[in-house]
Amino acid sequence: MKQAMYYKAEGDAVRCILCPHNCLIKPGKTGLCRVRRNEGGVLYSMNYGRITALNIDPIEKKPLYHFYPGSRILSVGSFGCNLKCSFCQNYSIAHGTPEWVEMSPGDLAGRAEAAGDNLGIAYTYNEPSIWYEYVLDTARLVKEKGLKNVLVTNGYIGSEALGELLPFIDAANIDVKAFSDGFYSSVCSGRLSPVLEAVEAMAGHCHIEVTTLLVEGLNSGPGEIDALARWLAGIDRKIPLHLSRYYPAYHMERPATPLKVLEAAREAAREHLDYVYIGNVPGIDNSTYCPGCGQKLVERGIYRARTLFEGENCSRCGMKADIIL
Ligand code: SF4
Repeated sequence: MKQAMYYKAEGDAVRCILCPHNCLIKPGKTGLCRVRRNEGGVLYSMNYGRITALNIDPIEKKPLYHFYPGSRILSVGSFGCNLKCSFCQNYSIAHGTPEWVEMSPGDLAGRAEAAGDNLGIAYTYNEPSIWYEYVLDTARLVKEKGLKNVLVTNGYIGSEALGELLPFIDAANIDVKAFSDGFYSSVCSGRLSPVLEAVEAMAGHCHIEVTTLLVEGLNSGPGEIDALARWLAGIDRKIPLHLSRYYPAYHMERPATPLKVLEAAREAAREHLDYVYIGNVPGIDNSTYCPGCGQKLVERGIYRARTLFEGENCSRCGMKADIIL
């Protein structure tokens, strides 16, 4: 186990300050995320270098639609999570005890370099912020190799820790689970405000896209989507928003969210944002269109994309295309 960062002693207990839970952890115990353990007054990361999933994925799968469309990225995850979403779609590694293999940051960064036709590394599958020390060590090496680092995160991380990591991060997809504190506390065992602060901080440092998994009757109402989109547009109306379809998983048995609910939410969000997509629905048109003239800029199918413009601007109206190529 690797000694953890971001904690302080309180008697024989330790206070972890990596994420907003600020767990007070007694000797021999772990924090809420299950991956940070107090051994004799020292906090250790229990998932450092422990990998449960490693795949080359299309960047669209993260999802990132405006960041090198059509490219591939080495995607890696460990285990544990600091939120307890009852609908968790990745519960076997987030909350289970999956098998893992050991890999040093140098080995992983080397694999990314050797993969060929590979953008870099995406820290995904489980929550990367509670894999902090390993992600930080690896991200430094990845940047030295001229590759990209991508976070797929719930944004539930302390501001100081996030600030130390962000210089190495090129893009992030951040889950905003809902735009209500009630949802966060009752469904995810967290709070909304730290997530919003993380989104604002990341938007100032790297390319970001936001995902909200819509569960009918819980977080999908047009009023709530309007408020979310209005808030996001206050940062930048060009931030892509992915409204993703919920399917029953883990402890939640509600039926899958109907397509008409997702479409109504998309219409509400489009009042404020230039790029709103529906996720987890095969066959839906998720191409990117120029907000100036409606010209198709990126043609997109399931996990594949084709860029239809050259340079930086829309070929029809000349408006700057908000796509990183
Ligand atoms: S990272 Fe884990 S141990 Fe630390 S405060 Fe968050 S949930 Fe608790």
